[in-house]
Amino acid sequence: MTMCTYCHIGKLDLKRVPYAQWHENGLILVEYISAMVCDTCAEKTYNLESLDNLQRLLASRPIEKKDSLDNNMD
Ligand SMILES: [Zn+2]
Repeated sequence: MTMCTYCHIGKLDLKRVPYAQWHENGLILVEYISAMVCDTCAEKTYNLESLDNLQRLLASRPIEKKDSLDNNMD
């Protein structure tokens, strides 16, 4: 069992959590990735290997531009 380094009370469980990241067009939900989540304070510690895979995935995936987000008030 792994003690939470944040609150020192809870224990960490491996869970799949949604991971979102900011891009120029706004916040996008990327994936569910493995992370250690504290059962007391809900502090998340992301698995470095998962993050690495995710960055590679992001780099290879073209970001869709949405016209509705453009500032076309006039
Ligand atoms: Zn905690």
